[in-house]
Amino acid sequence: MTLSDRFSDLSPESAFEVLSAAGAREKLGRSIVHFEIGQPDIQPPAHVIEATVRALRDGKTGYAPAAGLPELREAVAQYMKRRQVPATAEQAIIAPGPKAALFAAMASVIRPGDEVLAPSVGFPAYTQITRFLDGRTTYYDLDASRHFAVRVEELERHVTPKTRVLMLNAPQNPTGGIIGRDELPAIAEFAARHDLTVITDEIYGDLQFDGDFASIAALPGMAERTIVVDGLSKNFAMTGWRLGFALVPSGQGAAFERFVTHNFSCTSTFVQVGALAALTGPFDEVAAARARYAARAQHVAGVLDALPGVSCHTPGGAFYAFPDLRELLAGTGITSRELARRALEEFDVAVLPGTAFGPGGEGFIRIAYLQPDEVLDRGLRQLAACFAAVGAGAKAGAGAGV
Ligand code: PLP
Repeated sequence: MTLSDRFSDLSPESAFEVLSAAGAREKLGRSIVHFEIGQPDIQPPAHVIEATVRALRDGKTGYAPAAGLPELREAVAQYMKRRQVPATAEQAIIAPGPKAALFAAMASVIRPGDEVLAPSVGFPAYTQITRFLDGRTTYYDLDASRHFAVRVEELERHVTPKTRVLMLNAPQNPTGGIIGRDELPAIAEFAARHDLTVITDEIYGDLQFDGDFASIAALPGMAERTIVVDGLSKNFAMTGWRLGFALVPSGQGAAFERFVTHNFSCTSTFVQVGALAALTGPFDEVAAARARYAARAQHVAGVLDALPGVSCHTPGGAFYAFPDLRELLAGTGITSRELARRALEEFDVAVLPGTAFGPGGEGFIRIAYLQPDEVLDRGLRQLAACFAAVGAGAKAGAGAGV
């Protein structure tokens, strides 16, 4: 069989690659600290598990309506209203995971040849899906000197008459950066001026540490040009449940429902019943998780920032730190990919190279701080040893006149 170009052009995702390389080393008896995968180290809220088990026992195991259970679609609309985003149930589309919602959102607007403005660094699926749809990614750099902010001047530099979509993600993977409420109007004005559709990936929306998360879809005139992508994977620690959703512009629900029908038929019915329990609260376990991640963010950034040649801003949300190792690596010839390889093979700690998230990631690594405290600290010590070895190698090289 000959694969289509679309299929054979897909690249793997680093997080899953490194996870499998780490697993292979564990089989050899090594004890690996996992900083590679964005998987919360906690269980979903207890009442969500209860509701799901009950749904299974009550026989909620058949097909559901393609776009989702009406009561869950209504709950998504209400959940969006908590973020001040105007929403009705007709606009809420349920999908088997945030990525499935993301794919539907991107497929709904990207035509062959369209350009998609995507953050570098950013979630790798944006580029992969764009290519799959015969579109073209144009990267905009995040401002590493300003906590990885989105700068409108940078967006202006890359927009062309072919640009159709602006991808936003905050709190951000991989940097932990956020987009402040006061920064959104200028970005919205840019999108409107260039007549762009905004796809805003808000799957870490409940994990912003300071201040309430603000969605660009809440700004005047933006709901009709914005698709919100969200889901339960991160906010509710429900990665394996595969429950995502999109909030699409008013009047577009039926078109998405047709896409869903021919793509995945529907999302698991009993998982949707559980999702209803998640989205209608209580939210105290989400708040507790957010507080725990916020404390870890301070700790991890503090430890990393104190290491020679390393600087690390304190993440404003999500659960990732993105230390800048450019000073450490300068003159060593070592790339972030090579550093990540050495961290795993020589120091038993799995991290992702910044370049897994776009060309702007050279000199950075991503650390998902989703481990119990003692494991987290062991991993940080092992990383510090790795950095010291790399730094010592550079000095030795310099002394030898290399
Ligand atoms: N968007 C962002 C920014 C992510 O970090 C992820 C997962 O890591 C997703 C979307 C997709 O989530 P899932 O893999 O649960 O579908």
